[in-house]
Amino acid sequence: MRFLQNGFLNHGESEAEADGKRYLSKYPHVLKWINQCVACQRRGYRPELPPEIFLGIAARNLRKYFDELPVNEKGLCLQCAHADREANDA
Ligand SMILES: [Zn+2]
Repeated sequence: MRFLQNGFLNHGESEAEADGKRYLSKYPHVLKWINQCVACQRRGYRPELPPEIFLGIAARNLRKYFDELPVNEKGLCLQCAHADREANDA
């Protein structure tokens, strides 16, 4: 629990998520490569993230801290888009 002192470790948050948040707050310029689902608020890197940005380190870190998170035109991740479609079909 070495991230507690930074205040980013909230209840129910995994250490990986806390790492990711800490990373984004430290390097806000990489936020443009982050997708966030408008429904479940899950965050991940955009599928368009190139193999190397900012001397290769940022891209590597984003891949370490986040999963790839494609979102559709409504800003929904695949899981939420699926739920959304099912709701619309019902
Ligand atoms: Zn979602």
